[in-house]
Amino acid sequence: MASLRDARHANVWVETAVAAPAVPALEGAHRAHVLIVGAGYLGLSAALHLAEAGVDVVVVDSHEPGWGASGRNGGQVIPGLKHDPGELEAMFGRERGERIWRFAGGAADVVFDLIARHGLLCDVRRAPWIQGIHSEKAAARARQRVADWKRRGAPVEYLDRAQTAAISGTDIYMGAFADTRAGALQPLSYVRELARVAIAAGARVYRGARVSTLRCEENGWRAATAAGGDIRARMVLIATNAYADRLVPDLARSIVALNSLQIATAPIPSAQRGSLLPNGETLSDTRRVIRYWRLDDDGRLLMGGRGPYRDALAARDWNHLAVHVRRHFPQLADVPITHRWGGRVAVHVDYMPRLHRPHPGMFVAVGCQGRGIAWQTAMGGELAKLAIDPHYDAVLPFSPVRPIPFHPLKALGVAATIAVWRALDQCGLS
Ligand SMILES: Cc1cc2nc3c(=O)[nH]c(=O)nc-3n(C[C@H](O)[C@H](O)[C@H](O)COP(=O)(O)OP(=O)(O)OC[C@H]3O[C@@H](n4cnc5c(N)ncnc54)[C@H](O)[C@@H]3O)c2cc1C
Repeated sequence: MASLRDARHANVWVETAVAAPAVPALEGAHRAHVLIVGAGYLGLSAALHLAEAGVDVVVVDSHEPGWGASGRNGGQVIPGLKHDPGELEAMFGRERGERIWRFAGGAADVVFDLIARHGLLCDVRRAPWIQGIHSEKAAARARQRVADWKRRGAPVEYLDRAQTAAISGTDIYMGAFADTRAGALQPLSYVRELARVAIAAGARVYRGARVSTLRCEENGWRAATAAGGDIRARMVLIATNAYADRLVPDLARSIVALNSLQIATAPIPSAQRGSLLPNGETLSDTRRVIRYWRLDDDGRLLMGGRGPYRDALAARDWNHLAVHVRRHFPQLADVPITHRWGGRVAVHVDYMPRLHRPHPGMFVAVGCQGRGIAWQTAMGGELAKLAIDPHYDAVLPFSPVRPIPFHPLKALGVAATIAVWRALDQCGLS
């Protein structure tokens, strides 16, 4: 029986990733033109772009490159946003909306191009992303999504029940949205490789450097780290996403930092894989309380989904994922589950990412809504352009940092919301 009994509380990617580049701890005083706080996809992509443009850039992370969501995620490279092109045009107006959907639709290509250009070693593959449909309501939305993207020339299609079962390896979905602009990679290798090439291009990257205060001074910014480091820079880019702390007032209170949890099985013998994602496809579904899965390069099944909001997780918090494996793939009954881990995903109430300019010379990109491999990598390029030219018209308009009302009650609110969403999913009302 696939059970959590033997699963270690450990991130499977750490065991299969390329070696981390040598990154020193930050000590003493430093100066740079641009300081980047946070060494995930966003911060390191921005650093790479800046270093390649000859800009003097320092990146600091409280822990190390890839410690945040970038080193823990499902590795599904998904183009687009939760909102489809037509919705984006309705929300932002025709011109801006078109710019946003073109950018989002091309964001996976940005990742694949970057990997190819720099020869990043991260088990990358291009393969369709399958979005399994769990209800009639979601099926109507998916048909609309296909029509909306197709009209704009995107390689997407609607799969019927049989086609979806043949790819997903289970018959639980009534159909699927399939997008061939997508792919998969080893997420921790990708972020470590981004750090490696950013350093090679001239970026200075430091670990163990939690920025505790940022002060605006006459000639820019002065950052102090908890360990006593001191950095002066003209511009600051905030790339802390779901791990935002109190550094930028109200930023952490403007997002809901949900727990996303994953389990990994031992490598599945090929005879037992059946038709489980036979061409390297990745899958997430249309449920509000999402499920997602894929195989890694060694044939492990990685199953993910939402977790409780609290920090103190217990082994039973992963139980629902083991149940999904048992129910959807009975042929895997004897394959042990070996790992369980998780991380935080930054979500906004309206499922739209944000770009903030809380002060002149400070830019923040936040809220990837669980699609940050492509989106945050591409946004790194936008932040770099803003650091070079603060008047650059970036893809998203600036918005104020708006705390969510009653945010201190978020744990209760999230638990209640997830309970309601789960019920809607089960009744086919979502
Ligand atoms: C379990 C899970 C599964 C996911 N699956 C997918 C997926 O399959 N596909 C996909 O596209 N997206 C997925 N996501 C989302 C994706 O991982 C994130 O959107 C993306 O990694 C965010 O990158 P980032 O660089 O913005 O932030 P992060 O990678 O989270 O980096 C933020 C960094 O900021 C640092 N930091 C915070 N505060 C400070 C400070 N004061 N001083 C210094 N450093 C600081 C942290 O240490 C951290 O390393 C998933 C996320 C999780 C958690």
